This record gives sequence, structure tokens and C-alpha cells, in this order.
Amino acid sequence: GATIGVLGSGQLGRMFTIAARRLGYRVHTFSPDQDSPTGQVADHEVTASYDDLAAVAAFARQVSAVTFEFENVPSRTVDALGSDTLVRPSGHALYVTQHRVREKQFLAGAGIPVAPFAIVQDAAALDSGLARVGVPAILKTASFGYDGKGQVRVTNADAAAAAWATIGWQPAVLEAVVDFACEVSVVVARGADGAMVDYGAIENSHRNHILDVSVWPARVPAETARKAVTLARAACEALDLVGVLCVEMFVTHAGDVVVNELAPRPHNSGHLTIDAHVTCQFEQQLRAVCGLPLGTTAARVPAAAMANLLGDVWAGGEPDWAAALAMPGVKLHLYGKVEARPGRKMGHLTATASSPDEAESLVREARRLLTR
Ligand code: ATP
Ligand code: MG
Ligand code: MG
Repeated sequence: GATIGVLGSGQLGRMFTIAARRLGYRVHTFSPDQDSPTGQVADHEVTASYDDLAAVAAFARQVSAVTFEFENVPSRTVDALGSDTLVRPSGHALYVTQHRVREKQFLAGAGIPVAPFAIVQDAAALDSGLARVGVPAILKTASFGYDGKGQVRVTNADAAAAAWATIGWQPAVLEAVVDFACEVSVVVARGADGAMVDYGAIENSHRNHILDVSVWPARVPAETARKAVTLARAACEALDLVGVLCVEMFVTHAGDVVVNELAPRPHNSGHLTIDAHVTCQFEQQLRAVCGLPLGTTAARVPAAAMANLLGDVWAGGEPDWAAALAMPGVKLHLYGKVEARPGRKMGHLTATASSPDEAESLVREARRLLTR
């Protein structure tokens, strides 16, 4: 079999690697970390800086295709992969989605609805942006944000100036706070031939700006789910992305769907596809990267829910795994991280069931049992 390279080495790379090895591929991972979640399950782990372009080029020569589990790699790193290796998704898709200003401009340019926003590069733009966007608003750094890091809520002009100072006067996007009824995401896979598949709308709830629980199918009207899928596919096509794209969206009380942000890779909200669908998001990534036909997204069960396990779950000692696993339809996924820091994603639980409500209560109960 061929060897696939993964840039990045967290849990997304780990689950990709497990899927790829199941199909007989070898996987090499490249990141600054050692004994990483991906490296533990890969055939080979390269530990080097993304700025070590010679190491990047050497890595690319060992593999027949490269994909990403971490989209924040510098453009010059992607360029250093050279032209002899397939790179999917493309450097262009990464370039657009790793920077909120470019991402917002791309979405708006593609006619995809987003919350009112302003680009902030200097103090004058902050003032005029705030006047245009109104309050409450959220100031988000253009680069390197995840799990709500680099975001500050602002309610007036003084707070906006302070917020911008908090994020170090970096280029940012100021956007209106959306009074949403719920959040949904759509995971789309797209092949090199342009074929696309999706899993429909997944419903997401966050705690402290970190994804907490996902429920599939989303409990929204069919028309809303259809709108979400249409927008996600449109974004994927407009980016000409080959691989997996997750589109995070807000559903307003009026039933409108507004895109929040894009992730050009499998997404935390799609983890439940491992247990609930015939072809999971990680296998789709592999298939897309290798030019294989995409797999069916048919479900194996009527509904599923996923609950993240953050480091906090370990606060009182080793969680009671047996208690959770004794519950019907509950599956455990751990990422091999040794240090259980608060807020760190250590693993997740999935519950499959006959309805989304039932799946959600099962997975929440399973998580409660871990620390009871
Ligand atoms: P991640 O990449 O981990 O999903 P992030 O740091 O890129 O997170 P966002 O997705 O932009 O952050 O925001 C995190 C969460 O904060 C959203 O899922 C949503 O719950 C809330 N949020 C962000 N922007 C808005 C907004 N404009 N209006 C209302 N809520 C928002
Ligand atoms: Mg994000
Ligand atoms: Mg997000």
C-alpha cells in the first residue's frame, strides 16, 4: 500500500491514521511534538518545526500524498512539500480558511450568508466597524484561534479598544453577536472529481466556547437542515476543496442559517460518524486524498450523540470507564494524551440510539457516570 503523510499530530490525525491503516495504508506524521496522539498510532513520526523546510521537503519525499489535521501551517511549509506529492486539501484552501479575514471575505464573495462583520487593521477601522456592526459584538483574531481563544465580547467603544489591546492589536474581525436558536455543522467530503457527500446537519452545544455535545440528526426543521447542507456544499465547491470540510453555522429564531466558520478537515462534531455511519469522516478524508470513490454516508443507526471528555473529567482521579461502557450503545474514544489539563480534549463518548433525544440523554448520563 501507499504511504500517506499527515501534517499535525493531534486526535484528528490519530483517528485519520486509524482509518487509513484499516484500509491498508501506511501513515507518517509530521509535527513539532513527540509521542503525539497521531504518532502513537502512525507507522512513523517526524518531530520537527513547521519552519524547518528541509525537514518538510524530506517528509514529502517519503509519502505519496499529504493531508492536514492542523490547518494553521504556514504557506511556505505547504510550498516546501513540493510538486511531486499530492497535497489535499490544497494550499489555497488552507490559506483561505486559516485566516478569519480571508475566510469572511471568501464567504461573503461566494454569496454565503455570514453575520455582519468588519475587518479591523487599525484603530480607525475598529471605531467605524463598531458603528456599522453595532453591539453586542465579538472581536476575533484573524489567526490561530480555536476553542474561543483570541475572542473578546464587546459592548461599547471603550470595551472594543480594550478588547483589541487584549488580543495584541493584531488583525481581527469584529462581528455581530448572533442571537441563535441553535448551532449546527455540516461535514462535507469532496473528491478530486468534484463528487460530494455529506451527513446532513449535526446540532452542537458549546460550554466555555468549547464544543461540548453534538447530536445527529440536528433537531431542526427539514427545511433548515436542507439550507445548512446547501450552504456547506456551496462553500466546499467554491473553495474547490478536495478532502473534508466542516461548516459551522448558526440557526436564527427565524430559521435563517448563517455561516460562522470553516474547518478544512474532519471536525469534532463529526466524530459521531465513526460509530453512527457506514463511512466515517476520517475514511472520507483518506478516500478523497487518495482519489478513491467517496463512501456512502448512510447511517447505521437512527441517531447518535457525542460528548467531549475534557481534562477536567480526570480532576478526581481515573474516570469510571466501566460505568459508562455498561450503558447500551455507548462507545469510548481516548486520544492517548498523558497530561489531563483542564479544557484539554482528551477523548469523547458516543451513544447511538433510536432518537436524537435518547442519544443525547444516554451520552450525557454516560459522561456523568464517569465521575460519580
Ligand atoms: P473552534 O475552531 O474550536 O470551533 P473558534 O475559536 O474558532 O472555535 P468560533 O467558532 O468562532 O471560535 O466561536 C466559538 C463559539 O463561540 C461558537 O461556536 C459560538 O458558540 C460562539 N460564537 C462565536 N461567534 C459568535 C457570534 N458571532 N454570535 C454568537 N455566538 C458566537
Ligand atoms: Mg475555529
Ligand atoms: Mg468554531
